[in-house]
Formats: sequence, structure tokens, C-alpha cells
Amino acid sequence: MTVPVRVRFAPSPTGHLHVGGARTALFNWLYARHHRGTFILRIEDTDRSRSTDENIVAIVDALSWLGLDWDEGPPTAGYRQTERFAIYREHAQRMLAAGRAYYCDCPPELLDQEREAAQKRNETFRYSGRCRDRGLTAGALRLRIPTEGATVVNDMIHGPVTFEHTQLDDWILVRTDGTPTYNFCVVVDDVTMRITHVIRGDDHLSNTPKQILCYEALDYAVPRTRAASRSATAPRRSRPSATPASRPTRS
Ligand SMILES: [Zn+2]
Repeated sequence: MTVPVRVRFAPSPTGHLHVGGARTALFNWLYARHHRGTFILRIEDTDRSRSTDENIVAIVDALSWLGLDWDEGPPTAGYRQTERFAIYREHAQRMLAAGRAYYCDCPPELLDQEREAAQKRNETFRYSGRCRDRGLTAGALRLRIPTEGATVVNDMIHGPVTFEHTQLDDWILVRTDGTPTYNFCVVVDDVTMRITHVIRGDDHLSNTPKQILCYEALDYAVPRTRAASRSATAPRRSRPSATPASRPTRS
């Protein structure tokens, strides 16, 4: 039995819809319509310092103007991340109880020192895992990733891209102040909204292995990924130099 396609466009309302976001939305919409699936609009507004209601209105208007109608999403409640904190909390608790996450109370100064030391060695900073087995009951919640092996992102456009676990680290799911991080919210949203295909900009490829390990920790089938990149319309490996300079809308 084939599972009905469910895709999402998930902009952050930190600005208006720009052309990169519009094309990601278009690819998702086309994919949903082609497969008679469901196109979901989700507003990723956890960055409260930069998200505004005006930008949400602007994005919704722009999508409507483009004729990209969504089957689930605003104005129905529950499709804005700020409305979903109880859901993130519940999933964090579940991962903690299952031993797939652990608390870390490393002071920021210590992490800064380690980060600087890594920079001096010309290495990417990775959390040391100092708190992995300390059994703490408070702090920042980190994902316990496997120490060995690798995670393969099977992108439908790029093909398999392998990330060694030794290159990844136990990333933070929930900060010490209780706020969930961007990557964690995205995974929980995709899980609870039963997303089957993640079609997103190329700029998110590096986030994907982190997210895959989180899907696995939640015992959820990893959605198929597909880059809505230039390479979807241009020949592969031809990389136009005109990369948008502004930070793309998260999608
Ligand atoms: Zn720690």
C-alpha cells in the first residue's frame, strides 16, 4: 500500500517571501498536486525576536497571489510552531525516558573554550560528550547520537551523501531555558504532521543528518528528502554564481 504524499512548505516569518522560498513552495505544491497528496503550510516562528505577524500575513498573501493553495495550515490553529510547545516538550520527555537524549550542564564558558581550542586546531567544534553518562536531571537536552558508523542522506536529486558520526555531535534539542531548537522542532513537526517527503533548499542539506538521527531516535521512518535546488532545474554541478546573498527563508 502506498502512503499518501504529505509535503510541507515551512517558512520562517522573519521577512517577506523571497524568490528562493517561493520556488521551494512551488516544488512542494507541484509534488503534492501531481501525487494527489496534501500540501501543508507550517509557520516556523520559534525565533520570536525576528518573527512578526505582519510577515506571516505577507507570506500568506504572497502564496495566495501565486495560486499555491494549501490543504492544511493557517488560519487553522496548530500550524505555527509557537502554538506547539507542549508537543515538543512531550517528545523531548519521551526521548529522555528512552535514553536517546540526556541533560548537559556544561557552562557556556567551558563550551566557548572548547570551541576556541577546536578553531585553533582548524577543526569543527564538536561537543565533547562530557555529560553523556552523568545522569543529570536538568540542563540543556542533547541528542545521544551513535558514536560509530555513518548516516547517509539519500537525497532524491543529489543521491547518497554520507556523514560520518565522528563528524557530528550530540546537538542540543532543548536549551537550558526550555526552548526547543530549530532542528528539533522541524523533526517533531514532520513526525507529528506525518510528512512523507521533505523538499527543501540545498542550504538545508547539512542539517539533514542531524535530523535523520533524531527521526530514528523517535522511531519514525525518515521522510524522503529532495533538494528543491537549482540542480532540480539546471544540469547538475552547474552552479550559477548568483547565490542569494540574504539568508533564505527556512523551508
Ligand atoms: Zn555537558
